[in-house]
Amino acid sequence: MTTRPRSRELFAAARQRIPGGVNSPVRAFRSVGGEPFFVDHAAGARIRDVDGQEYIDYVGTWGPAILGHAPAVVVEAVRAAAGRGLSYGIPNPLEVEMAELICAWVPSVEKVRMVNSGTEATMSCVRLARGFTGRDKIVKFDGCYHGHVDSLLVRAGSGALTHGRPDSAGVPADLAALTITLPFNNAAELEATFAREGGAIAAVMVEPVPANAGLIPPRPGYLAKLREACTAHGALLVFDEVMTGFRLAKGGVQELTGIRPDLTAMGKVMGGGLPVGAFGGRADVMDHLAPEGPVYQAGTLSGNPLAMAAGLAQLRELGRTAAWTRLEELGRQLEDGLRGDVAASGVTFHRAGSMFSLFFAEGPVQDADDAKKSDTAKFAKFFHYCLERGVYFPPSQFETGFISTAHTDEDIVRTVEVVAQALRHAA
Ligand SMILES: *Cc1c(COP(=O)(O)O)cnc(C)c1O
Repeated sequence: MTTRPRSRELFAAARQRIPGGVNSPVRAFRSVGGEPFFVDHAAGARIRDVDGQEYIDYVGTWGPAILGHAPAVVVEAVRAAAGRGLSYGIPNPLEVEMAELICAWVPSVEKVRMVNSGTEATMSCVRLARGFTGRDKIVKFDGCYHGHVDSLLVRAGSGALTHGRPDSAGVPADLAALTITLPFNNAAELEATFAREGGAIAAVMVEPVPANAGLIPPRPGYLAKLREACTAHGALLVFDEVMTGFRLAKGGVQELTGIRPDLTAMGKVMGGGLPVGAFGGRADVMDHLAPEGPVYQAGTLSGNPLAMAAGLAQLRELGRTAAWTRLEELGRQLEDGLRGDVAASGVTFHRAGSMFSLFFAEGPVQDADDAKKSDTAKFAKFFHYCLERGVYFPPSQFETGFISTAHTDEDIVRTVEVVAQALRHAA
């Protein structure tokens, strides 16, 4: 067992002053046991911890590090921007460049507003959808995560659809009651819900490729069903592409599927590692935002010049190098390399481009209930075995791994080797 004395010390100190020792719960390693390592620095596909251990990183700060850590083009852009001032609170040209780039790349986006996180983006979509339609109810899917927004921290009890029960203390039951949660990939439940209360539904919010209960691709035709139901009943379709946007393709899942949502939430990759989100879509809907319209939304640091500079540098580098081809190639290498061992171990491997997850469950895994059948004790064993050997996967069965353009063919070969051993170890 590797010891990490410096990380242990830091975690003990952190727990004295930060709830649970972390600023976001998954970092505490609760679902795999043990304690987190503290990072000294990260470069390319590698993270080095404060005890000098190095890891091939498949978390990539939960998605943003699509070019690897500290890519020179992004770091240089931030340096240059910093010399011109850190925040202005009045328009700067980089905001316009970012808005134009997003509208050029993301098929459904005609107008866009910047915020500071994915949570802010989805929260603003909910308010805007309610303000635009004059309706209160929101439909979401069990296992989809849209940030820690009150209205979206709700999932159904298993089985038949139920009105929302909050997932978190502090979410008023009256608010949760306005959220309807459905099983993903189930068209019949969706149709029944719209037939019953379509006239009250402001929006359907979905991760078009859900990646927060492990990775669960939509069944063929399912996203088209969502589009049809929303159009037929006057509800807005909101794609939460905070994770998939700019990662699975230049224009996200909406480019790959041809399905056009009314609103899109973005974040992660578009910030280049700085705190950024955005939401955008139909101009007639977006024009309901203040100061143009009656829906209030604002932010002291929104459109921050450092964040815009970092994001623009990252997105332009992705575009310049057509990085998605390389990311798909690396993803395929990992999938091909693991195929035999996955089949022999009774686990289920899902991949979309450079996103992947390994369920310790027999397939098919088509919704959150299937994912929850995973053997999380085996996952924990698997996770620690890999970490000990220098491969860092997300520290939970219900998260998704990310490949970056900084990963090399050799990294993938080494990873396949470690995973094959880890699967035997965890069996
Ligand atoms: C990460 C994530 C969010 C929340 O973004 P934050 O920047 O953590 O607030 C929302 N939706 C999806 C799909 C995400 O993966």
